Amino acid sequence: MATTGGEIQHGYPHVETVRAAITALYRRLSHDTVRTFALSVPPADVAFPDDDDLYLGVQRIARVMVRHLRLPDARMIISFRDMEHAGNVELTAGPEYFIELNARFKTHRRDIGAALAHEVMHVYLHRLDLSFPGTRDNEILTDTAAAYLGAGWLLLDAYRESSVSRQKLGYLTPEEFGYVLAKRGQVFGEDIAPWFTSPQGYDAYADGLARARRDERQPPLAGSGWASRRRYAKDRRHAREHPRAGGARPSVEPGAGYAFEGRAPLQVRFPCPVCHQRIRVPVRGRLRARCGLCGTVLECDT
Ligand SMILES: [Zn+2]
Ligand SMILES: [Zn+2]
Repeated sequence: MATTGGEIQHGYPHVETVRAAITALYRRLSHDTVRTFALSVPPADVAFPDDDDLYLGVQRIARVMVRHLRLPDARMIISFRDMEHAGNVELTAGPEYFIELNARFKTHRRDIGAALAHEVMHVYLHRLDLSFPGTRDNEILTDTAAAYLGAGWLLLDAYRESSVSRQKLGYLTPEEFGYVLAKRGQVFGEDIAPWFTSPQGYDAYADGLARARRDERQPPLAGSGWASRRRYAKDRRHAREHPRAGGARPSVEPGAGYAFEGRAPLQVRFPCPVCHQRIRVPVRGRLRARCGLCGTVLECDT
């Protein structure tokens, strides 16, 4: 898990890996299983009053995470240590897993839930045998999975900045956490906005929400905006006139998301706004497409 302190990165530098992580989750879990995570870990379950015993309290919160992820036979053994990182977990065959938390959490108890959300997610993904190559991408997968499956809002809420201190947990930027939480809200209709205790966390959530809304307004989706529709119509005309070039037209913006393929009939390929799996549909005006991976029904105007 990422360190605390230092310069905090903002924006969406990892958004492509985040999207790939959401797709990978749906592929590995199926959309039926993803949908069983409709309820997030509620704030009351991870509250840690100062007069609670430290070790009993940490165990209690770890059990909240274990229960949330339905790992009934897994036991988390937690200790504290002075270290650079926020936490660490030894990934073994189980059923006992050893988690170390940074000793600073002894006096910053409110963020223990966030640290454990990340570490226990490592165990969950390990058991699913789901990983991304490379530490950076694998940590992004872990944070994304934690946020998407309902425990990771705590990681964003642990992001705080003031004139005297700053803290951020996890590898995603605050805005990227907000983006994943908004994507989750899109599927489950959940509004976690009132749960934020950190004003900076809330602002990042709002930013991520706006970004997630943009995914829902890309052509050929029927809800796309006027300017992008106009560009889409132009690209489509070009694809028809130059069938060989297809989607390879250099003037199609890299961020456009869609690409034309084939000639009779012409088809368009675009990312599902929910799970980012590629969907291919024929170019023939209004139609309804169902994403084969997440099951979302999409109104399209191709
Ligand atoms: Zn980690
Ligand atoms: Zn989908």
